[in-house]
Amino acid sequence: MIFFNVSCGFLTHSLSILKMNTPPPSQNVAPLSDKLFDSHGRQIRDLRLSVTDRCNFRCIYCTEPDVKYLPKSDLLTLDEYVRVVKIALSLGIDKLRITGGEPTLYPQLNQFIEKVGQMGLRDIALTTNGSMLSRELAQRWKDSGLHRVTVSLDTLKPSRKDAITRSHTTLKDVIAAIDTVRDVGLTPVKVNAVILRGVNDDEVSDFARFAQEHEIDMRLIEFMALDARKNWKRDDVVTAAQMKRRIEQEFTLIRDDDTESSTSMNYRFTSGGGRIGFIASVSESFCHGCDRIRMMADGTVRPCLFSDDEWCIRSMLQMGASDENLRTFFQDAAWAKSAGHGMDKTDFVRPKKTMSTIGG
Ligand code: SAM
Ligand code: SF4
Repeated sequence: MIFFNVSCGFLTHSLSILKMNTPPPSQNVAPLSDKLFDSHGRQIRDLRLSVTDRCNFRCIYCTEPDVKYLPKSDLLTLDEYVRVVKIALSLGIDKLRITGGEPTLYPQLNQFIEKVGQMGLRDIALTTNGSMLSRELAQRWKDSGLHRVTVSLDTLKPSRKDAITRSHTTLKDVIAAIDTVRDVGLTPVKVNAVILRGVNDDEVSDFARFAQEHEIDMRLIEFMALDARKNWKRDDVVTAAQMKRRIEQEFTLIRDDDTESSTSMNYRFTSGGGRIGFIASVSESFCHGCDRIRMMADGTVRPCLFSDDEWCIRSMLQMGASDENLRTFFQDAAWAKSAGHGMDKTDFVRPKKTMSTIGG
């Protein structure tokens, strides 16, 4: 058990100071192991690393125009991100998702991909809104060791794009980005759409067609309680079952095998390529197989997306903590991971931070 009496940036001060100042609570000390386990028997193998909390979009289900960013001085350096990934790898994490905010706004993204691309991780993916992508960049990432790219696209109607993302990147540009990463071989390409009642839920079959036409994995996501506007209501969620029923009016779906830790239930079509997947975080939670841990851009480590329990590793990095101390920090944090989020329960308390801050 290590004890560092310093917390992360200003956002974390709004949370329980005691909790923040005591990287994971003493009753949750992990047993000795060279792997990351939580106290519910799950091995943690997947690190979701947010390299920036900045974003050039203001998606209505995620962030707001008046979003307050972390001070630049609170963000980790390139070397600190790389060191964290090395520590994670030494603890059996073999999957890395680079996210944000919008990761392509991180000025040292290319160098970061070059460094983590050489570490021997089994799977390195990057999630982006597709606004800053070029063939040259995608090829550079591929050559540097990135395996896959996931692109977010919530509508296929040009007129809706601005209203949902509150940005001026065109639909054409994002679709071109999807085709580019597929052609460069950053595959399988996943495309994420958050389905919102009364906003884009009339497009679910169009997304199925899009998956076929572009030979990609389209994933329809249930709206989660992580929006800055705090508009989320359980009864408003378009469930995966509802989406699937609509799609089955036009397509015959065949269930694909998913891994235990898969976030989506995936289907092929009897006709045509591509796949459609449903991320039913609210209606059919997949917490039992969750193998993820997250780190925000300022070094705040959060074992569960929906729990405000989190601890900051930045001061340890800055104070020259040993690899062994950093490993112990991660093991204690993983051990404290909640069993599940309870978003489908009436006593669910929504997390204080938004998806753009935590990292999707
Ligand atoms: N900016 C990048 C992007 O949009 O792909 C990466 C970060 S974004 C936070 C990662 C993913 O989180 C996106 O696919 C986005 O659709 C999803 N997301 C954000 N807010 C969400 C919410 N309230 N419910 C469900 N998914 C959400
Ligand atoms: Fe930005 Fe991604 Fe959030 Fe949209 S979903 S506001 S692109 S971080």
